[in-house]
Amino acid sequence: MTNQDLLEIAREYGSPVYVYNAQKIAGQYKRLQDAFKKVKQVKINYAVKALSNLSVLSYLKSLGAGMDTVSIQEVRLALEAGVLPENIIYTPNGVSIEEIEKAVSLGVQINIDNLSILEQFGTKHPNVPVCIRINPHVMAGGNTNISVGHIDSKFGISIHQLPHIKRIVENTGMHINGIHMHTGSDILDIDVFLYASEILFETAKNFDRLEFIDFGSGFKVPYKEGDIETNVEEMGKKLSKRFNEFCKEYGKDLTLAFEPGKFLVSEAGKFLVQVNVVKQTTSTVFAQVDSGFNHLIRPMLYGSRHEIDNISNPDGRDRFYSVVGYICETDTFANNRRIPEISEGDILSFSNAGAYCFSMASNYNSRYRPAEVLWHDKKAHLIRKRETFDDLVKNQIAITL
Ligand SMILES: *Cc1c(COP(=O)(O)O)cnc(C)c1O
Repeated sequence: MTNQDLLEIAREYGSPVYVYNAQKIAGQYKRLQDAFKKVKQVKINYAVKALSNLSVLSYLKSLGAGMDTVSIQEVRLALEAGVLPENIIYTPNGVSIEEIEKAVSLGVQINIDNLSILEQFGTKHPNVPVCIRINPHVMAGGNTNISVGHIDSKFGISIHQLPHIKRIVENTGMHINGIHMHTGSDILDIDVFLYASEILFETAKNFDRLEFIDFGSGFKVPYKEGDIETNVEEMGKKLSKRFNEFCKEYGKDLTLAFEPGKFLVSEAGKFLVQVNVVKQTTSTVFAQVDSGFNHLIRPMLYGSRHEIDNISNPDGRDRFYSVVGYICETDTFANNRRIPEISEGDILSFSNAGAYCFSMASNYNSRYRPAEVLWHDKKAHLIRKRETFDDLVKNQIAITL
């Protein structure tokens, strides 16, 4: 996907537009597969919430991926994309038992993350296999927004409550077929991850009908030069060895499952915007683009840094810019960013725009959500049309009082 290809896409489909490189997604999928090739049964369930376009889901399915879903709507999207129910795991947090029952009726694997629902569900449906989400209380990464394994986290059943879990399972006779953890979004230190895995293995010994152990995700990808990236190859080597040892001890070949979102799609995505105005003030030069946090909220919400290239003038002289949006709200994408000289009308390209970008977009300021394009085999395929005014009003009921 060259700059020329991207410019062509922006010309054809307009801006702003999200573009996803299928080849990059496939490359990441294969990397993960290769890293764990010493384990007999490995299941990679793509976390749908990262990027939930049907064409992306069906492409990942064609690579062999299952799906990790967090809402009944995501379950339905995965089914719509042709994924079989047995290849879908439903890992919600804080949803009603009715929604969990709906997921059961669709035939997908249930994952329960609190004692209250576990007890209710086990009482009503002792024969439906259930996976349990454990919180091992291991801090992965330093940002409490994205570390969900720590003591204050709302996710999972505390490992300290294992005696209570066992009591519920014994009393209801329910069938626990999986143990799961998802400690956070950043695995910076493989040893910390392996430590959490040991807690999972210890927990697993308490259940004798397991089919899989799910290690969640948290694979970190680089956003800027010098960023730490999870070394999946090293992790694969170390965890595979431990997993195989555990299976021997357990007396059965279990499936090792993961549910990466960001790792598979983040780097595959580019977000293309057009510069409307170059505005010189007394303190900086603003490049104002035809977007805002309505389309890409990660820099404002998480302080994440997305590289920005001026693909209309890649060889221009570098200058410093504040890249901001066009909505009526402070929507700074980047401050003091060195970018090749920008003219009005230029197309800027944001990197790492595959994960948690379009899927977090909104209609704030009554702007349309962008189009999405999948780049495959040197061809651009439109996979979502830009919204229109009809989309903004279709569910509104205009009354006159
Ligand atoms: C969001 C989520 C993931 C994916 O996390 P990434 O950091 O995108 O890989 C996996 N599992 C669960 C349960 C999640 O909620």
